Amino acid sequence: RAKAAGRGCAELFSWTARAALKERNELERALVGAIADNELVLHFQPIVDTETGRVDCFEALVRWDRPGFGLLPPDEFLPVAESSDLICQLDTWVLREAVAQLSRWNRMRGDRELKVAVNVSGRHVSQHRIQSDVAGALRVSTVDPGQLVIEVTETALMDGSVAATNLEALRKTGVIVSLDDFGTGYQSSAQLSRLPVDVLKIDRRFVDTSSAAARSLLELMVKAAHAFGAEVVAEGVENEEELAFARAIGCEYVQGFHIARPAPADQLEAADVDRELAG
Ligand code: C2E
Ligand code: MG
Ligand code: MG
Ligand code: MG
Repeated sequence: RAKAAGRGCAELFSWTARAALKERNELERALVGAIADNELVLHFQPIVDTETGRVDCFEALVRWDRPGFGLLPPDEFLPVAESSDLICQLDTWVLREAVAQLSRWNRMRGDRELKVAVNVSGRHVSQHRIQSDVAGALRVSTVDPGQLVIEVTETALMDGSVAATNLEALRKTGVIVSLDDFGTGYQSSAQLSRLPVDVLKIDRRFVDTSSAAARSLLELMVKAAHAFGAEVVAEGVENEEELAFARAIGCEYVQGFHIARPAPADQLEAADVDRELAG
């Protein structure tokens, strides 16, 4: 009887595994079409300078307007893209689109001071093509390399030196490199001090002022980032206390729902985009 039950389990397992695989393959195929058919859309979330109160940068966050499914958040389709080189195509689409949007903002503002931040997956940053993908996107735009921020995660940098070499090469061209979700990886501080990054984004789970211990930890992370010579973005600022504390402990920038939620470019406040109106 135990044997029969075991076989039943195995069959059930292989049935669910096959169903999951089929669903995954369908999603992957649909995503390939989505990139070609322009079903991906970008939302932008401001990153604000704590000293001036002005928007320094907009982070581009991808969504998929999938017919019949509505607007899908990235965690519903990025894992599938990241399991193959499809993620490089997706990231490059985002890169080009974000840079094109910043070109329009440059024209509106009459300067080149606003920045745009783009997330690049570990798989992409570990390939040599990242350099030509970035250079290609910049070449067809009016965006300066110093207006482009590439966000990578700690885990992307762990698997060896190829990613670090690529990022160092990008920095030499003037592109800004930002370490996303800082604090969630497993790097030692000795490794971190050698990373080729200009900015550290403290993950939102550490941007928490609800206890003395949480506040001490956040303050310590900001001190560590500054000791590495990096500027700091506090991510996931959700209330006035977190904003005030981030500012008090010297975070250069803040980002979060308390300041603004991600939104399509045409729904952003003109004052956030246009320097003259903001002034
Ligand atoms: P991330 O780069 O760390 O982006 C921040 C995420 O936190 C965004 O979620 C944003 O909507 C959310 N967020 C911002 N402020 C707050 C807040 O105050 N509270 C809370 N609870 N959440 C906040 P989103 O847009 O769902 O993106 C999730 C992740 O997907 C991103 O995390 C990034 O790792 C990835 N991602 C998004 N767009 C792209 C892309 O174009 N390429 C790649 N490779 N990854 C992307
Ligand atoms: Mg990011
Ligand atoms: Mg993050
Ligand atoms: Mg928070």
